[in-house]
Amino acid sequence: MTPTGLPANVSATAKRSVLISGASISGPALAYWLARSGYEVTVVEKAHALRGGGYPIDIRGTATEVVRRMGILPRLRDAHIDSRRGTFLDADGSEVASLDLRAVTGSAGGQDPTGQDLEVRRGDLAEALHAVVQDDVEFLFGDSIDTLDQSGRGVDVAFRGGRRRTYDLMIGADGMHSHTRKILFGPEARFHRPLGYCFAVFTMPNTFGLSRELVMWNVPGKAAALYAVGNNDELHTFLTFHQPEPLLEALRDPDARRDLVATAFADAGWEIPALVEAMRHAEDLFIDTAAQIRMPHWSSDRVALVGDAAYAPSFLTGQGSSLALAGAYMLAHSLATNRDHTAAFTAYERDVRAYVAMNQALVDNGAATLFPTTARALEQRNTMLRDLVTMPSAPARPAYSALTLPEYAGSR
Ligand SMILES: Cc1cc2nc3c(=O)[nH]c(=O)nc-3n(C[C@H](O)[C@H](O)[C@H](O)COP(=O)(O)OP(=O)(O)OC[C@H]3O[C@@H](n4cnc5c(N)ncnc54)[C@H](O)[C@@H]3O)c2cc1C
Repeated sequence: MTPTGLPANVSATAKRSVLISGASISGPALAYWLARSGYEVTVVEKAHALRGGGYPIDIRGTATEVVRRMGILPRLRDAHIDSRRGTFLDADGSEVASLDLRAVTGSAGGQDPTGQDLEVRRGDLAEALHAVVQDDVEFLFGDSIDTLDQSGRGVDVAFRGGRRRTYDLMIGADGMHSHTRKILFGPEARFHRPLGYCFAVFTMPNTFGLSRELVMWNVPGKAAALYAVGNNDELHTFLTFHQPEPLLEALRDPDARRDLVATAFADAGWEIPALVEAMRHAEDLFIDTAAQIRMPHWSSDRVALVGDAAYAPSFLTGQGSSLALAGAYMLAHSLATNRDHTAAFTAYERDVRAYVAMNQALVDNGAATLFPTTARALEQRNTMLRDLVTMPSAPARPAYSALTLPEYAGSR
């Protein structure tokens, strides 16, 4: 076995080429495993460089095993945020409850071989993944796919930057608003399941003096969350509000987006006016509808989707990064096991769909309770939080470990 746990005696195959669109989490993870199987891998990313830092994401259960097999678990443990507490506030900022955050989100439970879920900044995970593939994979930053043509013996790709190349396969790892999905399967609205919330996320100065903790303020239908991911000078701030209608069009205009959030929080107390002011000046403001992507199929001929592009579960589940990592591993494994790409894509879907469905269902089974929309639901949530303060340990969430990884089938 190699240090990563790969069998070293798998028969050699002719080099096949694959283009992956997206260099965040699912893209580089897939690139790593495909390169291990002898694929010639190119990753195209529309951003001009890898983006570091960012909001905290979780790696749990099955996904923890993926990063262990990639050899990056020690690096991620060093980057672990280890949020100490979550403090929940009511309308005027009075404390409702203060508790260990894992009591709220649950843990992967007994199947997690490392015994610890990880919480790292999204950019730290992206950098760790990039570091282990950069020598084996071609990265094209600052470019993206313009058109795809599958009518020949491969996938003919025209890039926006002017390149034209043909690949044996192409994988869309380009996130929730995937351009690859749009080209292949049509408008996002067909697969977009809105969850009734809109959110704005941005960084602002840590004027609250918070350290490794979350402070969350709630009134019915509105929430503000302040994440201090270390002892640094920055806070990651989320403003979330109930929005039953999806806002795909309204979200396009930057000023309209800021106004939308400001209006939603116009009458709010506590420190909300200061947060809205910070949102107005934030350079990294990101606003979107909380939604899932649900598709009947994840592939079409020689092109498949992975991660958020295929099955975004939404930040309400905290499972997007884990699905991206585990999905990438399983897709690469299927391609290593089945020389025929149609059989490989079928196997990938067959093996991963139940795990995806269980994690997407978390939003219906309580994961959205952090953002109650009525006074009654908020009171029930507050009662639940007060009860959790006295609970001995976090409840296990079977969905986090609902996929058992096979031994990886491919090796160079
Ligand atoms: C505000 C917020 C909070 C979140 N909180 C959590 C959390 O607590 N826990 C958790 O697990 N998950 C969380 N998530 C979700 C998590 O970030 C995603 O599920 C995860 O990043 C999915 O990875 P991905 O690689 O599939 O897609 P993404 O991370 O979305 O990456 C897509 C990549 O493709 C690139 N791209 C897009 N279009 C193109 C194109 N046309 N051509 C080339 N490149 C393109 C993008 O620049 C990006 O690099 C959160 C997400 C958001 C937005």
